Amino acid sequence: MTMNSDSVWKLTYEKFDPPGEGLREALCTLGNGYFATRGAFAGATASKIHYPGTYIHGVYNRLPTHIAGRTIINEDLVNCPNWLFLTLKVGQGEWFSLAKSKILSYRQELDMYRGILTWRIRFKNNHRQQTLLKVERIVSMADEHIGAMRYTVIPENYSDTITVRRMLDGRVQNTGVERYRQLNSKHWQFCSSGAFGSNGIFLLMRANHSKIDLAQSSRTRIFIQDNKEIRPGIKRLVKSKERIGQEFSFFVAQGNSYSIEKTVAIYTSRDPGKRRIKMAAQKAVSNAPRFEALVEAHRKAWEQLWQKADVTIKGDAFAQKAVRFHIFHLLQTASPHTAKLDAALPARGLHGEAYRGHIFWDTLFTMPFFDFHFPQVSKGFLKYRYRRLDKARQYASKHGYRGAMFPWQSGSSGREETQVVHLNPLSGEWGPDHSSLQRHVSFAIAYNVYYYWERTRDIEFMEKYGAEILLSIAQFGSSMTKYDSADKRYHIKRVMGPDEFHEKYQHHKKGGLRDNAYTNVMVVWTLQKARQIIDTLDPGARARILRKLKINPRELETWEKITRKMKIVANRKHIISQFEGYFPLKELDWKGYRAEYGDIHRMDRILKAEGKSPDAYKVSKQADVLMIFYLLPFVEVHQLLAQMGYHFHKEALRRNYDYYEKRTSHGSTLSKVTHCFIAYLLGRKKEGYQKFTDVLNSDLNDVQGGTTPEGIHCGVMGGSVDIIMRGFAGVWSLNGKLTVDPALPSHWKRLSFPFCYRGRWLSLEVTHHAVTIEIDPGQSKGEALTLEVKGQEHRLSAGEKYTFTFKKKKKR
Ligand code: BGC
Repeated sequence: MTMNSDSVWKLTYEKFDPPGEGLREALCTLGNGYFATRGAFAGATASKIHYPGTYIHGVYNRLPTHIAGRTIINEDLVNCPNWLFLTLKVGQGEWFSLAKSKILSYRQELDMYRGILTWRIRFKNNHRQQTLLKVERIVSMADEHIGAMRYTVIPENYSDTITVRRMLDGRVQNTGVERYRQLNSKHWQFCSSGAFGSNGIFLLMRANHSKIDLAQSSRTRIFIQDNKEIRPGIKRLVKSKERIGQEFSFFVAQGNSYSIEKTVAIYTSRDPGKRRIKMAAQKAVSNAPRFEALVEAHRKAWEQLWQKADVTIKGDAFAQKAVRFHIFHLLQTASPHTAKLDAALPARGLHGEAYRGHIFWDTLFTMPFFDFHFPQVSKGFLKYRYRRLDKARQYASKHGYRGAMFPWQSGSSGREETQVVHLNPLSGEWGPDHSSLQRHVSFAIAYNVYYYWERTRDIEFMEKYGAEILLSIAQFGSSMTKYDSADKRYHIKRVMGPDEFHEKYQHHKKGGLRDNAYTNVMVVWTLQKARQIIDTLDPGARARILRKLKINPRELETWEKITRKMKIVANRKHIISQFEGYFPLKELDWKGYRAEYGDIHRMDRILKAEGKSPDAYKVSKQADVLMIFYLLPFVEVHQLLAQMGYHFHKEALRRNYDYYEKRTSHGSTLSKVTHCFIAYLLGRKKEGYQKFTDVLNSDLNDVQGGTTPEGIHCGVMGGSVDIIMRGFAGVWSLNGKLTVDPALPSHWKRLSFPFCYRGRWLSLEVTHHAVTIEIDPGQSKGEALTLEVKGQEHRLSAGEKYTFTFKKKKKR
């Protein structure tokens, strides 16, 4: 990829690069938190090079496939009809195509500040007619139903007729991920299509299982020199089943410019309060202003988002650009528009089809960003879980547990969507998939609820939804444990930790492991926080929730016992065992495998293709034990372990990090976020910064070798902002106090960002010598805020600006 450093707000590409196009399409996706469309060129259809895809929050569909001797059902976030299609031909020449036409010059630019994707292409057809083409595209942040583009044509050495073809194409399928291609992928059935008004077309489709209806309408207008409208007659109506389009021709004179403006509106039957979606879509495009005005409203909406979310870094242009790139894509996936929907954050964004648009535990990494900048979006995510609490209760009870057990992969209904078989692309074989045993996802949700509360103090949310989610998860956690009178400890079995390479004990048929340390600690943490929340609730709300969940004093006593007697396996050096039985596993020949395979991120696939099992080795896909130290402050971990009767050495963090760092292949992009964070906690700035660079490069340079074209990794994008805020700036909200304890990367000169804490907007600036913090002067109301900077307390009143200075530490 060529990435200019001319601006920290732009990604630019200077030539068309067919092999890299899939990645570029994912990176240049435009979205508004309601829908997103990959950055495929306007006239492209799905091929080896291009994959136009449009995805809308919550538009899922299930399909059965007979594979590996059984029928499996998959739920996918559906690729919606392609609204982008627009192409042209000059005179008697060929239809313009990036892959086939003679390209004389090419420049593609993604402007992240304005949310505009632009191409500027000069091409020649087979009659030597040379054309300059400028294509601009937005997915409107001002009106979440609108997408628009302007296609400007300048005939450079000819005057002739040009023919334009534009379409709404419903023939699309979900074929974006190669390893899913054996699965059924045709989700749409055609309902109707037609023309309306003088220049409108519409398409109505229905998802064949979920019965979600989708309406797209589009209107196209043409202007000479950007002001005089011309209205060529329709030459041909392209109307085949599942697609509708029009062809029209007009004469162009050399040197003039002709703008073709295509505006599209998209509605679905899931839209709150919308029933006549075909009408809504037609009305929206008919009333939409010209492209320039749409861009202006869109730009203003983005400006407002950036005012709340931007992070400014002085002294590191790459980090500056990459972090903005992460924030840009997070906001395109979930914005204030998302808060109005029944939606959460798909792990791979709305940018591709990997993991089928499902929602995982990755929100652990993204919630800090939303909690601190768009708490209403966080609340929306948590309400998505609340609406699926009954499903989680049924899931728990089906497995013999109480309370609420959330699925590892969640989609439309909240049932478990994880596959039961999985394809190893290296061997071509389908094998069992035990990953749904990652019960820790429920405790991640508990953590999200608790920290949303900690950062916002949204009492109404806690009383109406949050406490019930948290306490139901606590009930589930407690019901997973079993007391063993032999060692007088509580144990949890048949679970997987975050490290997906270890699915079971090697010679066992059944999946799952015993006493995964991360899960056990998070159960204890959840029980403790649930207890604390019960005490903070207003008596009426407390009585209502306890009654509803049938939580009695005996149950609370059991919780208390579990928090003192949970089993954690560790050795004499205070290394925590990832699960019981980890230490005796074989060591992997890391050097040998690196030499043989180069890229060993996915050691599981390599080992399985060699007929071996990763279950037999000390090889982790991602941080597992270390997640404990990423999520919880060290003092809290220390306290939790001590109350369980384990007195850990103060060197425990360093020892555990060194132990697991050597044995982790980082096969998930989430892993480096955790390891980077901990390297910083340990004061290893150089090592930490190397990992931070990897975090920033995860999608920009597709470090996992081909996963980004299938969708961005939202977790790592949220993780980078979390590293900056909690790690580098050292902003923590703990037990009602806001603490700031920065440790900037050595070469950074300044870091600053705004954030919202308990309803107040603050702006923070950190250098190596000082911390300056200010409550937005506009917020004159409210009590003073207790703040602790580098251990020193201060009461900050509204409008006050407080600067704390300190000496730079010597380099470690
Ligand atoms: C990781 C999981 C993650 C999922 C979705 C997997 O590769 O191992 O931890 O939740 O991707 O991002």
